[in-house]
Amino acid sequence: MLRYFVSIFLLLAFGLLTPPGFETQGILPEERSQERILMVKTQIQARGISDNQVLEAMKKVPRHLFVPSKYQNGAYGDFPLPIGYGQTISQPYIVALMTQLLSLKPKDKVLEIGTGSGYQAAILAEIVEEVYTVEIIEPLFQQATERLKRLGYKKVMTLRADGYFGWKEHAPFDAIIVTAAADHIPPPLLEQLKRGGRMCLPVGPPHQVQRLVLVRKGQKGEVSTEDILPVSFVPLRRTEKE
Ligand code: SAH
Repeated sequence: MLRYFVSIFLLLAFGLLTPPGFETQGILPEERSQERILMVKTQIQARGISDNQVLEAMKKVPRHLFVPSKYQNGAYGDFPLPIGYGQTISQPYIVALMTQLLSLKPKDKVLEIGTGSGYQAAILAEIVEEVYTVEIIEPLFQQATERLKRLGYKKVMTLRADGYFGWKEHAPFDAIIVTAAADHIPPPLLEQLKRGGRMCLPVGPPHQVQRLVLVRKGQKGEVSTEDILPVSFVPLRRTEKE
């Protein structure tokens, strides 16, 4: 009996057991890990994602802490979820696919346009050294910045701005990922991509089906594009008319 109380005390002391009603502080690595393992197996590996660093990151990042509490139960489902302000966190498979398409190396510097919840940025931060992410909606920027900090993602730098223009001060980037759809590839982003770099983004009309496109910039600066699959993303907003 005493041993039972001692182990409960130790679990509480080390924060491994969260009493009901308590706010979750920091990362509890084991929390809902079985759901993440199942998500990776049935939604991600089953659809052909094989990059080990992507699979490991998806098993590690606590996706349920990136969605509003009323949707937490569905956080590991095979679908996107609302995150407020008319925006969504992408379906887990799309996050995994786009991340794999970037062919990341640990020393890479990556730019994300469309921070949203911060989930994609956290996935990137599990894989690469430097992550820069830009969000246009102030409250989403605030929430994601605070969430990433609280969860220990110190190497993610956040900015509130129109991501159409990238983040010039930190350019060039080895890889760029855009998680909102524009009807063309923003030229400033192409400019801020390193030679030999990759960019993955949805291109097409707003509120309709777009194409997920992989852009490669060659060693001489030549650009090639490859259509990957049809997708449906929220539109890339603009602060001013072009
Ligand atoms: N990657 C996010 C989900 C993105 S939803 C995640 O993991 O949760 C798309 C996001 O792009 C939204 O938060 C939206 O506000 C943002 N966005 C739209 N237009 C933008 C722009 N011009 N610059 C920066 N962010 C933009």
